[in-house]
Amino acid sequence: MASQHGPSNAPGRPALVALAGGVGAARFLRGVVQVVPPDSVAAIVNTGDDRLFYGVHVSPDLDIVTYTLAGEIDTERGYGLAGDGTRVVDGLAKLGHETWFRLGDRDLATSLHRTVRLSEGAGLAAIADEVRRAFGVGCRILPMSEDPCPTFVELSGGRRVHFEEYLARDGAPDDVTRVDLEAAAAATPGPGVLDAIAAARTVLVCPSNPVVSIEPILQVPGVRGALRASSAPVVGVSPIIGGAPVKGPADRLLRGTGTEVSALGVAQRYGDLLDGFVIDHADADLAPAIEALGLRVRVEETLMRDASISAQVARSAIEIADELRAGARR
Ligand code: GDP
Ligand code: CA
Repeated sequence: MASQHGPSNAPGRPALVALAGGVGAARFLRGVVQVVPPDSVAAIVNTGDDRLFYGVHVSPDLDIVTYTLAGEIDTERGYGLAGDGTRVVDGLAKLGHETWFRLGDRDLATSLHRTVRLSEGAGLAAIADEVRRAFGVGCRILPMSEDPCPTFVELSGGRRVHFEEYLARDGAPDDVTRVDLEAAAAATPGPGVLDAIAAARTVLVCPSNPVVSIEPILQVPGVRGALRASSAPVVGVSPIIGGAPVKGPADRLLRGTGTEVSALGVAQRYGDLLDGFVIDHADADLAPAIEALGLRVRVEETLMRDASISAQVARSAIEIADELRAGARR
């Protein structure tokens, strides 16, 4: 089946498109590129977390995906480069700067490059492409938009903070009342985003935070329409295992925005977006209810502790898509 995604497909047109956030997406994508040729894959990546820190443009999710696919991610922290130092932020702290955003030294170089190139007039997409090539990554990495799309989290008492402030500075409190994706909803899709969806034979929704990683991408005008217009099956992997996220505040953000924290809750929230869903063995009892939503379900080990599990999860998702496509032809 892998041949369906092979280079025989029109050159330069990705056959497999994945909607991606950071850590969960990156772990899944490192599996996808073992199953299909990396040059047939395009990841459309959330930029709602982007923000200026220390005068440089940081794109957390673009960089997590790039570093992971390059095999250079700091697996302990889940972000940044393995073995990186913090001499620059330590130096800034000494000068009185707030340094809750722990940007590593070499990681800073990536963001500094991005900032310099932006000031020279390059676009975020071209820069993401330069960075992934410099890191030897074969899969295309497409920012969902080149416009600023900051995600804001609203908390009880009327507080409103940028997503990175919510997560990295405030430690993801649970009194979330609303998530504001209005900037994404007013943005222009990044170069190649709508074309990639239109050309895709398979669309995968990575096991990312639905609220602040996948929904910002879906909010970008044209993205949902392109997905609806496409005949490609859309298959997701649940980021929730046994009623809890593997990592990060997805539980607090789901609950705060009215969704049950479960694989079923995520499937319901995605609504008619998904045609298929991979869920964990821990959630096998939810399979009938998810199937009742009209989804094809596969139960798998989905905790991607290593690259071989990532490959197995990717294989399952791609197989569901292949089955759905074959079924549609019949
Ligand atoms: P972030 O931008 O770094 O927060 O990354 P994402 O939005 O891509 O990922 C966060 C989500 O990934 C969380 O909801 C996690 O539960 C999920 N996640 C992380 N690792 C795994 C894993 O190994 N398996 C599954 N199924 N989900 C995972
Ligand atoms: Ca993120």
